[in-house]
Amino acid sequence: METQLSKRLSEVAKFVPKNAVLLDVGSDHAYLPIALLEQGHIERAIAGEVVEGPYQSANKNVQYSHLSDKIEVRLANGLAAFEASDHVSAITICGMGGRLISEILDAGKKKLASVERLILQPNNREDDLRRWLEKNDFHIVSETMMTENNKYYEIIVAEHGQMTLSNDDSRFGPYLLKDKSAVFKAKWQREWEKLAFALSSVPEDKLAEREVLMTKMAKIKEVISDVS
Ligand code: SAM
Repeated sequence: METQLSKRLSEVAKFVPKNAVLLDVGSDHAYLPIALLEQGHIERAIAGEVVEGPYQSANKNVQYSHLSDKIEVRLANGLAAFEASDHVSAITICGMGGRLISEILDAGKKKLASVERLILQPNNREDDLRRWLEKNDFHIVSETMMTENNKYYEIIVAEHGQMTLSNDDSRFGPYLLKDKSAVFKAKWQREWEKLAFALSSVPEDKLAEREVLMTKMAKIKEVISDVS
């Protein structure tokens, strides 16, 4: 029986190029590489994990799926999981904070020259991750937003090349901002409500603090009310 991915990881899988050599960083169960190999979508994969327990479960799952000849599970920190001789063409880093993903990319950035595509699914601080990509000569080629178990997830796909992001682009995502999908509006409506709740507990005399929250709320309203 083929491995069933969560909706979130299924969306990530759609952006992995056919016949890729994939490195999945933070591959706690190796689900993504296993499913992509079972589908015959990728050529081979490395599942990288920095923590012993998740590394062991990735190892077990790869053995059970009889894919040990196609997936190598490596105990390694971030991009230390691969060498140029592995010919990795695509990297997925999913289910971590945007800052941690940026740090992982930054620590191994010299190795990224030969990698064609990054597929990143930050759980938060997407703005920091987009700024890292911009600063390091990556450009976003696609983005999507989806919801699962009452959480919102953004997927950012990047390749080599320059881009210039406005503040709105980095915060909301250049493609997501253009699409303004129903999911996008629902996520930002919820963010607006969180900010409104935070504002309600800031005393009237804390003007600067209130101003910061109100500016953020006004920007969200402007973005999600725009019907153009
Ligand atoms: N990628 C899977 C997903 O999206 O479902 C697992 C997400 S899990 C929340 C994050 C995993 O990343 C953990 O197993 C953690 O040990 C691993 N991790 C965190 N920092 C890492 C690093 N620097 N290098 C490799 N793995 C890392």
